[in-house]
Amino acid sequence: MLSKLCPHCGKRSYSASSSGSWICPYCDKDISQTTVTQEHTDGDKKGDNLA
Ligand SMILES: [Zn+2]
Repeated sequence: MLSKLCPHCGKRSYSASSSGSWICPYCDKDISQTTVTQEHTDGDKKGDNLA
């Protein structure tokens, strides 16, 4: 899951892909050029089950 912090309204929007245009669902601004934040969800790391 990818997310971007909208520079216009300060809210975070989420998308499954960063391809194409990215429109903020809160203020309808085009934030395609905003830096993507990679969410730390389960994916490639499965060995960190330390107590
Ligand atoms: Zn916005």
